Amino acid sequence: MSQKDIVVIGAGVVGLTTALKIQEEGSYRVTILAETLPSDPKSIKYTSQWAGAHHVSTDRGDSRMFKFEKDTFDIMWDLSKPGGEAEHCFMRVRQEEYYDAELAKPNPLEDMPDFQYLSNDSVGNAVSGVTFSTVTIDTPIYLNYLLSRFLARGGTIIRASVQHINQVLEGGPQAFLPGRRPVYSTNDKATVDALVICTGLATRTLGGVEDKAMYPIRGQTVLIRAPWIKYGRSGYTASEDLSATGKAPWSYIIPRRSGDVILGGTRDKDDWFPLPRPDTTTKILTRTLALCPELTPPETRSNGRQPTVDDLRSIIVEEGCGLRPAREGGVRVEVEYVSAGANSTAKVPIVYNYGHGGAGFQSSWGTAAEALRLLGMALQDA
Ligand SMILES: Cc1cc2nc3c(=O)[nH]c(=O)nc-3n(C[C@H](O)[C@H](O)[C@H](O)COP(=O)(O)OP(=O)(O)OC[C@H]3O[C@@H](n4cnc5c(N)ncnc54)[C@H](O)[C@@H]3O)c2cc1C
Repeated sequence: MSQKDIVVIGAGVVGLTTALKIQEEGSYRVTILAETLPSDPKSIKYTSQWAGAHHVSTDRGDSRMFKFEKDTFDIMWDLSKPGGEAEHCFMRVRQEEYYDAELAKPNPLEDMPDFQYLSNDSVGNAVSGVTFSTVTIDTPIYLNYLLSRFLARGGTIIRASVQHINQVLEGGPQAFLPGRRPVYSTNDKATVDALVICTGLATRTLGGVEDKAMYPIRGQTVLIRAPWIKYGRSGYTASEDLSATGKAPWSYIIPRRSGDVILGGTRDKDDWFPLPRPDTTTKILTRTLALCPELTPPETRSNGRQPTVDDLRSIIVEEGCGLRPAREGGVRVEVEYVSAGANSTAKVPIVYNYGHGGAGFQSSWGTAAEALRLLGMALQDA
């Protein structure tokens, strides 16, 4: 049986995982079109390079998303096992979560390995807490792993900035290879069998989709070199004057296998600013040091010395920020049929997979599996 031609637009964690999932089913030949690729210099237009990242689900009241995340965890746990296929992209860690309120039980994280509720006398200034085992992801390395796995299995990648989906529908991926003999959709046959949209925040402006429900949640981080940190920790810290907001900010510490550690973070809705703000860096360092005094080098803590924010500054590798691709109504994993271009009456299924907000890594395999399921059904109906 001849393979069907599928084009995926986007090579962030969502596009790469979706392309792989579709490719590995076996019935499809997959091409990725993307403006930015994993080994490119970091860019505000490519969120995946900026993520922490860890797998820590929170109860957002969205059971579909929770299931996507759970399915993803099972795959990442397997990939990260000693001797596992992508072991070195991950670090298995003990995670501690500290909350500013008593949370309802059962906690949705109870299924995580080694889950335990923390006792009241072990949560410090917090009100309650839990601990469990999970994975952290060295995101630049993991993105390159996904890309190389896709290429090794025969996938094609073309760097392209798609202005309107009709460019792909009418001319196929070849429309972005200048100098090649063009192909065109005909009346009864489209150049591509299906299109998959994984363009993250840019789906807000991608011609033919223009989803105005998309908005950024800006997150700023600091990357430090602290190979002595072997556990993850998140929590509320009341280390500063809270009279303006009345609410302690949420901070996190995500160690990577390389010995680098991501400190965060912020969650600023509709904030498009593309550079780290110096005063926010100071706040992140102050909050995370309050949450984890062991962040500074061991010699700065010897003989009972209190570690300082300046001790942390001495081990900064990078300050950064990214725009989480959030969507009113949550992630969009859906299928729709559109015309295959100006001279064609053929209909082509479009599978949408975008709007993962702050959970694109931890839901990537789950949403990719759903995108594949929708694709299979759509092509069966076609
Ligand atoms: C500070 C921070 C911390 C985070 N921490 C976590 C975490 O701990 N766990 C977690 O699961 N998630 C985390 N996230 C969220 C996660 O990073 C995102 O959900 C995820 O990266 C979104 O991936 P994406 O593939 O949808 O988008 P992107 O990574 O932005 O990729 C979009 C792709 O589409 C391409 N593209 C867009 N428009 C076009 C076009 N017109 N033509 C061609 N190509 C196009 C781009 O070039 C790129 O290749 C964090 C995010 C931030 C900012």
